[in-house]
Formats: sequence, C-alpha cells, structure tokens
Amino acid sequence: MKNSLLLGSGNAGKIKEIKFYLKYFNLFKNFKIIDLSSFTSLGEPIENGSTFEENSIIKSTFFFHKTNYLTLSDDSGFTVEGMENFPGIKTARVAKEMGGEQQVVNYIFKKNPNKHKIGASFHCCLSLIGQKVNVVVTGKVEGFIISHKTGNEGFGYDPYFIPSSSKKTFAEMGFKEKMILSHRFEAFKILSTTQK
Ligand code: IMP
Repeated sequence: MKNSLLLGSGNAGKIKEIKFYLKYFNLFKNFKIIDLSSFTSLGEPIENGSTFEENSIIKSTFFFHKTNYLTLSDDSGFTVEGMENFPGIKTARVAKEMGGEQQVVNYIFKKNPNKHKIGASFHCCLSLIGQKVNVVVTGKVEGFIISHKTGNEGFGYDPYFIPSSSKKTFAEMGFKEKMILSHRFEAFKILSTTQK
C-alpha cells in the first residue's frame, strides 16, 4: 500500500496551489495525497502561536497526532509596512472579524491616508511533521497592497496584492503566473531542497 501525505488545511485555494507545487517540484510522487475532506471531523487546532512558523507546526502536529499520517500544513498571511506585523498571523481571523478582505483593506488605508498603494509582504510557512520527520521552511514575497479589488482569480487577498516583480495583482494573473511569483512558491522551492 502507498504511504499517504495529508494536507492539513481546509482552505480550498491553498489545497489547489499545494497540489500544483507537489507536482511542479516532483515531491512525494510515491505518496497518495489526501486532505481533510477524507475525514468526518478531526476538530480544529488552536492556533495560539506567535509566528507563522509556530502556527504552521501547531496545525501539522495536530493533524499528524489525530491521523498518524505524515502531514504538510501551510500558515500564511501578509504584513503591511509601518503597521507592526498587522495583520500577519491574524490575516484570516481579522477578515472574519471585520466582515471580509475588503474591510481589512479599508482599515489599512484608513490608517495610511493619502496613499494608493502600501508596501507589504506575503509570508508562507510550510511544516512537514511525521514520525521522525520535522521540516519547517518559510517563503516570502515583497510587493504592495492596493485599496480596491482588482482581478477575479485566486483566493483571499489575491485581488489586493501586487508583487514587486509585476504590475498585476495575483488575481489578474493566470494560475501558473501567480504560482511562480508567490510566497508559497518560495517556500516550496526550499522544501524541495530538503526532500532529495
Ligand atoms: P491561515 O494560514 O489559514 O491562517 O490563513 C491565511 C490567510 O492569508 C488566508 O485565509 C488568506 O486570506 C491569506 N492568504 C494566504 N495565502 C494567500 C495567497 O496566496 N493569496 C491570497 N491570500 C492569501
């Protein structure tokens, strides 16, 4: 029987991208890739870490202990220049509390009046946890947050983020174009060097 790799995320946007990267970097090709939809209810990890790394490890460790499958988790988000790591590790949480991504972006621009774009960076921490496996890597991409939704592709804040290497938001790009410019790509590039 094939070994399985569990993707420890309930975010459909992330799962789609992670599956792309596993193929792109030729990772775990002898494993059956499964996600949380294979289980009825495993519960939710309490993400009370203070960094992307800590929260990513909390997720992977939680799902590994629940299932005994080697688990890959992603904790990600963005930080805005001059706002002391906001929203950072709370990127998903503040969107829920404020009523959506546009509300978070409105708040950021209210705190930074007279700007059309603000320096920001996206971060992705991947952790791979299993019996005798403990790998943690982080990728980052610099760019800008803009005030209005631009583009229809992707998920989360993709319509509000322009990486420095482009003039388009992630949501205006084709899937593969975002895939090679994103914070997740940078993290997978490092992960791939640990799996030779
Ligand atoms: P968490 O890692 O599940 O805590 O949530 C991270 C949040 O950051 C997501 O819900 C998205 O809103 C945002 N995020 C992470 N990666 C991306 C991305 O590639 N594009 C857009 N938003 C992202």
